[in-house]
Formats: sequence, C-alpha cells, structure tokens
Amino acid sequence: MEKVADGVWLLRGDLRKAMNVYFLEDDGGVVMFDAGTKPMRRKVRAAAERLGGLNRVVLGHAHADHRGTAPYLGVPVECHPDEVADAESDASIAPYMDLSQLPVAPVRWLYPLLLRRWDGGPVKIEGTVSEGDTVAGFQVLHFPGHAPGLIGLWRESDRLAIVSDVVYLVDSARMRPLPEGEASVPHPAWAWDHAKAKESVRKLAALEPATVCAGHDLPLRGENLRPTLEAAAEKH
Ligand SMILES: [Zn+2]
Repeated sequence: MEKVADGVWLLRGDLRKAMNVYFLEDDGGVVMFDAGTKPMRRKVRAAAERLGGLNRVVLGHAHADHRGTAPYLGVPVECHPDEVADAESDASIAPYMDLSQLPVAPVRWLYPLLLRRWDGGPVKIEGTVSEGDTVAGFQVLHFPGHAPGLIGLWRESDRLAIVSDVVYLVDSARMRPLPEGEASVPHPAWAWDHAKAKESVRKLAALEPATVCAGHDLPLRGENLRPTLEAAAEKH
C-alpha cells in the first residue's frame, strides 16, 4: 500500500499489479473508491483494517475489475445512479462492450476470460452519489462515456483527481504500458459512448489537475496535466 496524497492510500493488485483501489481517510476509518478484482478481496480487507476500518465502498464504475471485491466486504456500496443496473447485474461483461473491436487477436480472446475471473458478481447498491455530492472531502464529478455512470473525485486544495477509468495510463487493448507520462482515452471496445468518453477527458483536463490517480497503473503527476490530457482526448 502506498500513500499517494494527504489522506489517500493506493492498493495495487492482480494482473501486473495494475488494478487500483483507493482508500480515503474518513471519520476515523476509510472510504474505499473502486473495488478492484475478486482475487484482491483478502488484501483489501486487511488494508482497510490497518487504516482503521472500512466505512463504505464507492464504485467509480461497475465494470468487473472495479466491483470485484465489493460483495465481500460487509459494508454499504454506493455508485452513480446511472451505474446501479450494471452493478447489480450478474453480467461480467457490460451489455454495451464490443470486445470484437479489440485490435489484437490474443487480447480479444483473453479478455472475456479475464473479466469473468476478475468479477465478484452482482453488488447490492445501497445508495447513490452524483455530481455535487461529497465523498471523504472530495467533490464527486460525473464523467460519462467509458461507462454511463462513471464518477471521479476531485480535491481542489492539492488539485488531485481520482478518476477510475476516465483515462487509461496503460494500453489495455494491446496489454502493454503507454510511453512514460502519456494518458489515453480507454479503447472504444469498452465504451458505452466513446464520444462522451473523450468529452469527459476534456472535462478532466479543464480542471488542470496536478495528480491524476486512475483505475490502473501508477498516478500521473505534473505541474499541470491539462496538455497531457487534452492530447489524450485528440487520439483515436
Ligand atoms: Zn472500466
């Protein structure tokens, strides 16, 4: 577990340690943002204990690799209203995903297996959070596109954005890292609405964040990440 900012810890797990779960200090315990994959459940539980105990889970979105531990933690789980149906569904692959669009054949074959292995199954959603709400001192922002109810968290004081899959810091369609310091819009194969996904990356860019903590891989840092993110929104 790594402290990535004041009151924020990152736990990385599963494949290439690329699956991220964030713990946010809250009321003597922690709120967990995103829930990683099912095989991470013991590590997640132990980490939350060390940080004073888990108060609740907030899902950045409901994809299999972001909801995986949520059914096993015994605390209320929340997400955006537009994500409730997919979070509560037993499908490991969201209905709008079109994996046939993935450009590399072995990756295309592998993902359905991976998504099923990562998934912890349906999650009972006990409450919703929307843009304008606050989670552990962070402002909730809606970034639809990759998923309809994708949300991120924003803290103005240190320009920190924790954004789930608004951006990828990894080339997941080819299963290889992106060049150092680059970001990308997630591949259209995963997207609910790719045009909206690009708009959401521009919305994130306009915040001029200094740190972007994404759903996969290590945080992206810089004085002002606006140009990096705007460049990402221009690609594919
Ligand atoms: Zn996703």
